[in-house]
Amino acid sequence: MRTLAETDPEISRAIELELERQRGTLELIASENIVSRAVMEAQGSVLTNKYAEGYVGRRYYGGCHCVDIAEELAIKRAKEIFGAEHANVQPHSGAQANISVYFALLQPGDTILGMNLAHGGHLTHGSPLNMSGKYFKIAAYGVEQDTGRIDYQKLREAALQCGPKMIVAGASAYPREIDFAVMGEIAREAGAYLMVDMAHIAGLVAAGLHNSPIPHADVVTTTTHKTLRGPRGGMILCREKYAAAIDKAVFPGIQGGPLMHVIAAKAVAFAEALKPEFKAYQQKIVQNALALAEALSSFGFSLVSGGTDNHMMLVDLRSKNITGRDAEKLLDQVGITVNKNAIPFDPQPPAVASGIRVGTPAVTTRGLNQEDMRTVAEIMDHALSFGGDEGHLREAAEKASELCKKYPIY
Ligand code: PLP
Repeated sequence: MRTLAETDPEISRAIELELERQRGTLELIASENIVSRAVMEAQGSVLTNKYAEGYVGRRYYGGCHCVDIAEELAIKRAKEIFGAEHANVQPHSGAQANISVYFALLQPGDTILGMNLAHGGHLTHGSPLNMSGKYFKIAAYGVEQDTGRIDYQKLREAALQCGPKMIVAGASAYPREIDFAVMGEIAREAGAYLMVDMAHIAGLVAAGLHNSPIPHADVVTTTTHKTLRGPRGGMILCREKYAAAIDKAVFPGIQGGPLMHVIAAKAVAFAEALKPEFKAYQQKIVQNALALAEALSSFGFSLVSGGTDNHMMLVDLRSKNITGRDAEKLLDQVGITVNKNAIPFDPQPPAVASGIRVGTPAVTTRGLNQEDMRTVAEIMDHALSFGGDEGHLREAAEKASELCKKYPIY
């Protein structure tokens, strides 16, 4: 068989360039990570050739006994990590997982109470641009302007007022711990299902560093590629009583054949998450986030809610007189990758945004420590606090390059 470079030199070149980009930049996008070779090996395996519609032992295709081993292991390990009664490891993505849950438990026109996208929620929690916002009535909760935090009493009042069929907890850009016990109480009081989308914090939950939604939620969804450090994909965990409805909603509800190579890679990542080193890694993510938040504050950066409890922070750049869009570009130029992000009550449109979201999962995988976080903050200061001055940008790029060389990947 011919190699990729021989068969398709253009794609081979794009992959090489991306590898060099990853090696030469500091990844601070809070939703990204750097997977192990073992995860990549499973994902790039012959399992990609296999059709396996259905579930373990109940497939619509022959020859599934080998891929069944992979899916069974993924399920067993996922249940063990999170203490869940049931796991569906087939969703192709986090968005697919969320839509599957709505399809399983709701009817079009039902009300969902989810976190406002502009305050840190996800598109699939009821944005009018997303299917969730088109097929369901949406009521949104947000954070308080003065604290940047969810006010659970106000959330309770909103729930009792709008009578949702489902409350969705979880976020894409919320730097504080979410109280799932309180959200469970509110949901029960309102007679609603509680779905928790723990995509961002799944690794922290696995390591016991964030309270677990499992005892409080009817259904929990997650991606597998953020703090959990697996392949790109989704997963649903639920109580046994919802298992049949959830499985049916994923397949044949919204998906066809599962991606067995990705499911195998999920199983590998879950095995890694069960090791003691994973807990130590998650602890370092949190310590690094705290160190970075402190260092950024010392350089005059303002953080939404004043800091972080998890792996990420939301930097409000208004005091630096720069938009999120421009900051993203300048940081790119010096070798730091972030995403522009709306801050709560943002005066700018989302494509411009007043903030950036910054997270430590990927740089922590790389090996950066709390001391290095001070250097990262210094680089960001050089890049963003001096009006794009060439000298400061050069200094920032040199420091970023030094850190990348000190902590090589792949
Ligand atoms: N849920 C949350 C909270 C997310 O932050 C994301 C993605 O960033 C998703 C779901 C969607 O995941 P995916 O991109 O795999 O569809």
